[in-house]
Amino acid sequence: MIVVMEPRATAGQVEAVKARLLKEGFRVHVSEGVERTIIGAIGDKTRLAGQSLEAMPGVEKIVPILKPFKLAAREFKPEDTIISLGTAQFGGGVIEVIAGPCAIETEELAMEAAMAVKAAGAKLFRGGAFKPRTSPYSFQGLGKEGLTILKRVREETGLLIVTEVMDARDVELVGEYADILQVGARNMQNFFLLRELGQQRHPVLLKRGPSATIEEWILAAEYVMSEGNNNVILCERGIRTFENYTRNTLDLSAVALAKQLTHLPVVVDPSHATGNWRLVTPMALAAIAAGADGLLIEVHPSPETAWSDGPQSLTPKHFQDLMVKVRDVASAVGKRWRERVK
Ligand code: PEP
Ligand code: MN
Repeated sequence: MIVVMEPRATAGQVEAVKARLLKEGFRVHVSEGVERTIIGAIGDKTRLAGQSLEAMPGVEKIVPILKPFKLAAREFKPEDTIISLGTAQFGGGVIEVIAGPCAIETEELAMEAAMAVKAAGAKLFRGGAFKPRTSPYSFQGLGKEGLTILKRVREETGLLIVTEVMDARDVELVGEYADILQVGARNMQNFFLLRELGQQRHPVLLKRGPSATIEEWILAAEYVMSEGNNNVILCERGIRTFENYTRNTLDLSAVALAKQLTHLPVVVDPSHATGNWRLVTPMALAAIAAGADGLLIEVHPSPETAWSDGPQSLTPKHFQDLMVKVRDVASAVGKRWRERVK
C-alpha cells in the first residue's frame, strides 16, 4: 500500500508512520516529493487490523497497490532506481553500454574485444563463461576457465564485468568474478536462481524471457527484490513472434512501459533481439529514443569465426560507429553521456 502524507506533514509525523509500519514488519520506502511525502509499504495488512493508520497525524490517505508487483512498482517508489558501480551508472538519465563477445573463447580474443570496446567508450565488458545453448551439442562455454579470463580482463582494462549465471549453485562462484550477474532469457522464471540472486549483493541484469509477458518479467524482478536485493536492471532482448526474418522481435513498447510501471533501469539488447548485425545499430538508436537507460551489444574481433552468435556480432569498427550515433541520439532525448574512461 501507499501512505500519502498531507502536503504540510512534518518530518516527525512521517517518522512516526514509518516507525509504526516497521514495527508491524512492513518493508518501507519513503519518497520525498516536491509537494508531499509518500511512504510505500509492503507487508501483511492484517497486522494493522484495528489500528487506523489513516488516523495518524499527517496522513492524508492510504492507497492499495493493485498491481501484482509491489517493490518494483513505480507507485511504491516514484523516483528512478540508480545503480552505481565505480564510474558506471544505470538509471537516472545516464546511458551506459555493456559490450563484448557472446562467449569467452580464448584469453587473447577476450582481451582484444575488451580493449576495443573500452576504446570506443564502453565501461562494462560482457562475455559468457556459462552459455545457455538451445542445443546440448553446441559450445557450452568455458565455465570456470572463462571466469578466470574475465578476471584478467578486469585487471588489465579496468572494465566492469557482466556475465551470466545459469544455476543457483553457481551464484557464489560467478559472483567472485562478476560485477553484474546476468540472468539469461531462458532462465527468467528459474525462481530458485532468482531467489538466490536476491540474497547476494551484486546487481542483477534480468533478461526478458522469449515468451514472457511484461508482467511476468517484472514479477521475476520482484522475486529478486523480495529477497532483499533491489538492484535489478531489466533487459529487453526480443520476444518470440511469428516473424522469421529476425531472430526475435524487439519489443520497444515494453521498454517505455517498463519505465512507467517500474522504477528500475531498463537496458536493451538489440543483438539477441534481431540476430543480425545489420539491424543492431538502428535498433540500438531506437531503444535510446524509446527511453532505455543503456544497451547490451555483442562485439567480436572477427564475427565470422565466433563460436557463438557471430551473425549478430558487431566488429570493433562498427561498434565504434554505433557509439558515436548513440551519443547523438542520447543527447537529443535529454540523456547524459558521462565522461568515458580513456
Ligand atoms: C547472451 O546474452 O549471450 C544470451 C545468451 O542472451 P539471452 O539469454 O537473451 O538469449
Ligand atoms: Mn549471445
